[in-house]
Amino acid sequence: MKEVDIAQTLTATRARLARALLSAGRPSDDAALLAVSKTKPASMIRTAYHYGQRDFGENYLQEALEKQERLADLNGVAWHFIGPLQSNKTRSVAERFDWVHSIDRAKTAQRLSRYRPSDKPPLNICIQVNTSREHSKSGVLLDDLDDLVAAVVELPGLQLRGLMTLPAPVEGFDAQRVPFAQLRQALESLTSRYPHAKLDTLSMGMSNDLEAAIAEGATWVRLGTAIFGARDYPAAHHS
Ligand SMILES: *Cc1c(COP(=O)(O)O)cnc(C)c1O
Repeated sequence: MKEVDIAQTLTATRARLARALLSAGRPSDDAALLAVSKTKPASMIRTAYHYGQRDFGENYLQEALEKQERLADLNGVAWHFIGPLQSNKTRSVAERFDWVHSIDRAKTAQRLSRYRPSDKPPLNICIQVNTSREHSKSGVLLDDLDDLVAAVVELPGLQLRGLMTLPAPVEGFDAQRVPFAQLRQALESLTSRYPHAKLDTLSMGMSNDLEAAIAEGATWVRLGTAIFGARDYPAAHHS
């Protein structure tokens, strides 16, 4: 496979995000790019960092910890855990990450809070919502969201920031917007019920549906393929 020119893909992706924000009538700094580096080597993260990228998303703990070690000399990187999180991995995630986007159980949240080192700011959390029930086992159903939110907002080691979703892939702008609109409405309703919480985050949109997510208010778009190229071995290899 041809080597990816990260300077070029990053520039193109930033331009794509800027265009999407403009057509949604949103300010150009209203959403940010989370570079999803799962299965990609530390050297590619280093290159993206060199071209100004600071936020990186990883799905697999062991792989992420190895890359973090190799990249320990880089200042100001923010690490986002975006994959399914097992209870026995919560300690390392609480110690080594800045964000977790994939909370769907109170127990995991409680453990992350307990293990969050007291010399670090609270861990930023998004609750993952299952907006396409038949497609995925991950994420809390909208019906169960309120209970989970009530549990998470109480936890001292965590700062609940908002919601995340990973919908079933569909073609077409209008169809892609549907789950993102649901997530936006769910966040709006939480914001009115928790006016003092800092609920400012919608983590939604990937390489193939960024425009639809931005149209519905995404604040983090999580892009892997668009920046680092196709992943050349299946995710299952790692889990
Ligand atoms: C892999 C992954 C992404 C990135 O997907 P692309 O289609 O490569 O942009 C985003 N979010 C999550 C949760 C992922 O697992």
